Amino acid sequence: MKTIENQSTETNCHSNEIATKSYFLGPQAENADWLRHQILYILDHFFQWRKDHRPADGQAISRVDQKNENFLNNQNNVQRMIQDLCHRFENEVPQFSPRYIGHMYSELSLPSLLGNFLALLHNPNIISTEASRVGAFIEDEAIKDLAEMLFYNKDQSFGHFTSCGTVANIEALWRARYCNDHFLAMGAYLNTNHQFALSFFESCHMGWDKFNQYCRQYNIKEDALKEYSYVFLGPWKVQNIYQKAFAKPYQGSVVLVPNSKHYSWLKAVSLLGLGDVSFIGINLTHQGQMCVSDLENKILDLKQKDIPIMMIVSILGTTELGVCDPVDKIQNLLNKYNENKLFFWHHVDAAYGGYFASAVDKKHLHSLYLSPEVENAFRSLKNVQSITIDPHKLGYIPYACGAFLAKNSDYYKVSAFEAKYIQSPTKTIDRWMKTLEGSRSAQGATATWLSSKALGLHPEGHGLILGRTIKARIILEEKIKQQCPNMALLEKNDLNLLCMINKGSAISLSDANEKTEKLIELINQSNSFIVSKTTLKSPEYQNIIDYHCEKWNIKNDSAEIVLLRLTLMNPFFHNNQTNVSFIDEFANKLNELSC
Ligand SMILES: *Cc1c(COP(=O)(O)O)cnc(C)c1O
Repeated sequence: MKTIENQSTETNCHSNEIATKSYFLGPQAENADWLRHQILYILDHFFQWRKDHRPADGQAISRVDQKNENFLNNQNNVQRMIQDLCHRFENEVPQFSPRYIGHMYSELSLPSLLGNFLALLHNPNIISTEASRVGAFIEDEAIKDLAEMLFYNKDQSFGHFTSCGTVANIEALWRARYCNDHFLAMGAYLNTNHQFALSFFESCHMGWDKFNQYCRQYNIKEDALKEYSYVFLGPWKVQNIYQKAFAKPYQGSVVLVPNSKHYSWLKAVSLLGLGDVSFIGINLTHQGQMCVSDLENKILDLKQKDIPIMMIVSILGTTELGVCDPVDKIQNLLNKYNENKLFFWHHVDAAYGGYFASAVDKKHLHSLYLSPEVENAFRSLKNVQSITIDPHKLGYIPYACGAFLAKNSDYYKVSAFEAKYIQSPTKTIDRWMKTLEGSRSAQGATATWLSSKALGLHPEGHGLILGRTIKARIILEEKIKQQCPNMALLEKNDLNLLCMINKGSAISLSDANEKTEKLIELINQSNSFIVSKTTLKSPEYQNIIDYHCEKWNIKNDSAEIVLLRLTLMNPFFHNNQTNVSFIDEFANKLNELSC
């Protein structure tokens, strides 16, 4: 054990790295005094706000009221329940601890906690600027910060906060369906009324430029298109109309998503009534990235079958492995089609990885921890139609906070719904007609606003913290390779996730799976670290399974691979100051419990 003096002097952190520690409470609540001070300031300010608001109205609760027996009983009752609740929450998952390396949550940043608390007290509903005079504008500014980090033009892009990444993904597909429907309706209209002979594919991939050009050229009004819209008429009534317009039945449009998908995409396809068979998986490489040549083959095949593609999804930071798809190569492929006047909607699901954009240098200097390939993937975000990001993951923002962003107003359009009781004083800010969710809290937006401004969404701010989490992964990875002979690591690691199996003396995959299951159980029971487990199944992950069985020289006898999965996002997992080195201790634990 180190002495106290030793602790305070021993630090080989740079001054700006030390400074990032001010943004977190710390595993032992080291920054408690500062946090208490800020919370008291916010509370006092909030109290004063009330007092200053029409003081002449007088008080509604008197000192005498406050001494009333039943009044006091109520208060004591609530106080007791609060104490009980606090006691109950002692059993909650200690997600703040550097020893928590399981799922995608950890410490919260203090600015985000304070922003959240501030908005919680004021409790605006950012559904409209009528219901919220401040919060709705904070949301607009916070979205601009995220847009800028994600390489979008902050003055052209649009977006809003959602309660999670799942909702943001549904928002994206909802909008892609709106495009698909408009383009299809336009094709049907032109075929019927102007002797065009557009195919389903040509129609659905015409893009807004062409669409607008047709509108002008033939003086077509939105109402005329309604007679050809499946969103308006429903899929059943429209079938005869399409049969006549295209001389064959419409088989529906599909959604292409890599097999590493988050399951929210299945929900989105199901919810929007596209039919489960409309969900088409794209093969993965042996490293878990979307296989671009398979995407190309599928596009060609669908084009030939005249089946339009509503949306193509790629992923930055897959949920299972933290792998980044080659967004740039995918976009290049789609650009080739754009030259032939075929438009595709490319959405990037960056729910997990999105914040790593803050680690990418905007001046094209190479960042410290991301590979050049991953950097290129992030840089090409500026070209994609829409993005999902989850501030409640790597933004260190409290739940529930996701966000959806669109490159420009063309990809933010969606069927607008009117509500007579909601007013819109500020048309450009008011989003209620265009959000899936109705009433929305300002907490996520305000938390993100304060955190983004305080930490800075650049390589010396938020990016520095995230860069250090990759460094932690690299150090642990090396340590396991050198010191843990029973463990075998999965090959590709782009971000701060690390997956492995307990290989030991296993001669087959099923053997190894059993050992890995057991190891995960033992670690989580040991009360030293909390880890997570994931299972990659065939056929989606067949290439990964085959490749690794061969690499590890074990019999390929199972349709799935069980992985010990670590999310190394806690900012203090790797540090030189605590009495224990979490990295060393974790490697030792692996050796102790694996076999
Ligand atoms: C976490 C995640 C989601 C869904 O996010 P929730 O906030 O849990 O709804 C979607 N896509 C990816 C890649 C994710 O990692």
